[in-house]
Amino acid sequence: MKHYKFCPMCAAPLSEVRPDRFECSLACGFVNYDNPTPVAAVVVEYEGKVVLAHNRSWKGAFNGLITGFVDHAEGAAECAVREVKEELDLEASPPTLIGVYPFERMNQIIIGYHVTASGPITLNEELDSFILVPPEDCLVWPAGTGYVLRDWLRGQGIEPDMIQMPKR
Ligand SMILES: [Zn+2]
Repeated sequence: MKHYKFCPMCAAPLSEVRPDRFECSLACGFVNYDNPTPVAAVVVEYEGKVVLAHNRSWKGAFNGLITGFVDHAEGAAECAVREVKEELDLEASPPTLIGVYPFERMNQIIIGYHVTASGPITLNEELDSFILVPPEDCLVWPAGTGYVLRDWLRGQGIEPDMIQMPKR
């Protein structure tokens, strides 16, 4: 995994004091904890269907949830509403928490929400297409955001099929 080479406080080299734990080599006391980054992932229910979108940077045909990094001093639910507005141009209902999931490969914590939304969908520049899938036809995938969708579907009394994650 990539890591900082120099102390962001005093610019001295960082030293690896144990695997994946980097600390300032001088006395300033900086420790790079490398905490997971919180990401909101949103199941957007739209006219009774789930919005799954394709990110422009993804090579495969995979469609996923609406996601985004929680901003500085922002709440995760607030982030969910903001991302739905930014990425789909929809006003979301107050978010309901589905669950919190590790996504170790990306060093992220996925915070899953459900919202309902209506109105015309306009994608922003991050997304290039979307599909509307009836809940009973949704497939899920074995990664943080896939577990969000799975657990929301289970709450609807649906046990979805799990697909393999395509390589990106
Ligand atoms: Zn330092």
